[in-house]
Amino acid sequence: MSTIAQAAMQSNDIILNGKVFTNNTKLSKEHAIFAAYHSSLYSGNPPREGKLSTTTIIGSVKQALMAIKYSSEETGPEDVSNLMASAKGTAMHNGLTAALQAYDSNYTCEKRIEREVEDWKISGEFDVLTPDKQIKDFKFVSNYNIKKLIEDKQALQPEWTLEDMYTKAPTYFKYVAQLSIYRYLLNDPEVKMYGSILFSLNNGSDMGKYTIDQEVTFPLRPMEEVHEFLVDRVKQIKAHIAAGTIPPCSDVERGYTPGEWKLSRVGSTGKEQTVRGSKCNSAAELSEFTRLNGRPGDKQIVIPPKYALCGYCKFKTVCDQYIPPVED
Ligand code: SF4
Repeated sequence: MSTIAQAAMQSNDIILNGKVFTNNTKLSKEHAIFAAYHSSLYSGNPPREGKLSTTTIIGSVKQALMAIKYSSEETGPEDVSNLMASAKGTAMHNGLTAALQAYDSNYTCEKRIEREVEDWKISGEFDVLTPDKQIKDFKFVSNYNIKKLIEDKQALQPEWTLEDMYTKAPTYFKYVAQLSIYRYLLNDPEVKMYGSILFSLNNGSDMGKYTIDQEVTFPLRPMEEVHEFLVDRVKQIKAHIAAGTIPPCSDVERGYTPGEWKLSRVGSTGKEQTVRGSKCNSAAELSEFTRLNGRPGDKQIVIPPKYALCGYCKFKTVCDQYIPPVED
């Protein structure tokens, strides 16, 4: 066996504190341990009937119900490649909060808080409460996330409620809802009506288009609106549990991007170009277009529809809506 093959064989599953993590993309053993270790540092308990985390309640109702229904043994082992970004985020969180508290002990960091809503406990753990009582949360995200946030901010309408934002501006929603719920849980009139996300990018600035490290400040939602949102969510989840039903995730909740079907042709310049008018909505439409307008040497380009958020969802192994990606 070659030296390279022997080295590749060493990148196997990781068992940490009795929990198995797969390593299907063959990360180095040390990267895999890093990802598994940091992902296991989460201080909260898994969601259960009667107690939900802020992250769970701002996700889809289906995911909340799945989190209550299935144990981590039932959803199967997580792959270290899916945990890598969050592990890097956790490691940076720890570094950030240690630095802030060493600089000024009046920074409150990573404090777990909870409040009762409709007899259920809603809990959360904010990253930072500044000495002058502004909530700040650290996020280690892709530049795609920042692109989506900018698009959502441009689309935002003053009359939109949290519920409107959930469907029409989902990236903006997840930040403003999280910060607003933390303020609701803290229930302290001195906490500022605005909060911030401290973004750091995990995949570069895309040729300088995005700032690697930046603070984005959000006006927080009024307490009454947050209360109403939480009451409504808890009531929906309780009603589904009582009826034994699980509603499907919507396209927005699944991060749907439509597919593309088009024809490409080498033009007079020698470069391959999309044939004008060939962009179709299905394989059948493209076949018909090719039959009527195609020329020898044309190539059919097919980019399948994508449900990006399903790919990161921990319930995909037990979800009837999950579509595994098509292998090339
Ligand atoms: S896999 Fe997709 S559809 Fe299923 S619960 Fe997760 S996000 Fe929803």
